[in-house]
Amino acid sequence: MYDFDVIVIGAGPAGYEVASLLGAGGKSVCIVEKSESTVGGTCLNEGCVPAKNFLETSSYIKKAAYFESCGVSGNENKFNITTLQKATNCLIQDLKVGILGKLKKSKVTIEYDSASFVDNHTVKLESQDKNITAQDIVIASGSSHRDHPLMSLEGETIISSREVFKLSSIPKSILIIGGGAIGCEFASFFNALGSDVRISEFAPKLVAHEDDDVSRTLKRELEKNDISIDLKANVTEYRVSEEGVEVTIDTGKKQETQTFEKVLISIGRIPNTSVLHVENANIVEDRGFIEVDENLRCLNHDNIYAIGDVLKSPALAHVAYYEAKRVAQSILDKDTFSGDYIFPSVTFCTPQIASIGKSEKALKEQEIKFKNKKLFFKTNAKAKIKGDDSGFIKVLFDEETSLVLGASIIGNDATELIHQFLIAINAKLTMNDLEKMIFAHPTLSESTLDLIH
Ligand SMILES: Cc1cc2nc3c(=O)[nH]c(=O)nc-3n(C[C@H](O)[C@H](O)[C@H](O)COP(=O)(O)OP(=O)(O)OC[C@H]3O[C@@H](n4cnc5c(N)ncnc54)[C@H](O)[C@@H]3O)c2cc1C
Repeated sequence: MYDFDVIVIGAGPAGYEVASLLGAGGKSVCIVEKSESTVGGTCLNEGCVPAKNFLETSSYIKKAAYFESCGVSGNENKFNITTLQKATNCLIQDLKVGILGKLKKSKVTIEYDSASFVDNHTVKLESQDKNITAQDIVIASGSSHRDHPLMSLEGETIISSREVFKLSSIPKSILIIGGGAIGCEFASFFNALGSDVRISEFAPKLVAHEDDDVSRTLKRELEKNDISIDLKANVTEYRVSEEGVEVTIDTGKKQETQTFEKVLISIGRIPNTSVLHVENANIVEDRGFIEVDENLRCLNHDNIYAIGDVLKSPALAHVAYYEAKRVAQSILDKDTFSGDYIFPSVTFCTPQIASIGKSEKALKEQEIKFKNKKLFFKTNAKAKIKGDDSGFIKVLFDEETSLVLGASIIGNDATELIHQFLIAINAKLTMNDLEKMIFAHPTLSESTLDLIH
């Protein structure tokens, strides 16, 4: 009766994951994505993958200064942005082939078009002016750049993260508005490549969702690298001229005007729902975010689901993958995973930061009695060997049972190390359990053990 069992709108991490799982599970699936070039979504084309490739490359420049002291004298360090862009595009194409291969293997039909709702079983393919129907529909249309209330994007001068990947040169100076994960990552990138970087953040701390101790340490480390940071700051005026953008920043205590070659706006993301005509299917939204129940079904619907950045859940690719798996399980009538999950928060700035589980603030609010242990990488042999012993690991555990409740890490490879604690918390391990384990030496991971002693 319907054309497909399931229509998925959007082929980002949420969409391609749910579509390939459903296809592999025997459902006839159609995924609608704007074009072949946008398959993979924000994550592959203008988010996680290119950003982390840019950051990895810029970290080599930072490390090169250390090589000399290890007896490795290299050639003159020259950075070529065009080479990096080409390498990043190759990487994206390579991964895209993998995604398309997975969809093909799962026999998923792909329509390259923009989708919108006609009713709760029908989707319109806009440019083909054609309707397709399905028993179930999954909204996975993701998110886009959030505009600044005062400044709009302007060519190559006032940019968003997507334009960073197309820059023809590294700017001499850049103002980054927003000191969240993306802002801090790009601050590290431009700083490593020699730009004069300033961050203007509205909140009283950087990476506002992280532990206070971590945010303070991050600020100190970024400042050590000559990044200027204004907290509780607001841009009140700006003027674009031939030299760049003249910006006035108000911190409450002082007002300063400075000219930057470029301004990067990274103040969050908005859900891609405005063109979906969700009202035609009576889908409830709040400021563009789709409202769902605990099973990720749109309110008042049993056949329409939403996953990924269109929800209010944290805008992270790994959260999108998890939601995709849950919806696939539900549509395939399999036991679904619990909605009560923990996920790592990761920021790939220098130094890296990562956290998992409950924060000190949450534990205090929930009146859970806890203790913390902290180990500075200064005492870790491997961190010293790698030439960066900044930062620490901090673990929060139950005062009575010593159950691991949460962890925050700032420093070398924090985004990898955090998974030890992800497993510890999920497996309900205590600090006593960890103490009995043998970690290899010399490794960054053994800090976990040193922290207990
Ligand atoms: C600079 C940057 C760095 C990031 N780094 C990380 C990181 O390190 N780790 C991490 O976990 N997350 C990171 N993220 C976040 C991550 O990219 C997103 O959480 C993730 O892409 C969300 O997946 P999604 O499938 O929900 O949406 P998206 O990836 O946005 O995909 C949605 C897809 O839907 C398509 N679409 C939209 N509307 C329609 C329509 N009407 N019809 C058809 N198709 C449509 C879009 O073209 C897009 O391809 C980063 C984001 C940015 C911007």
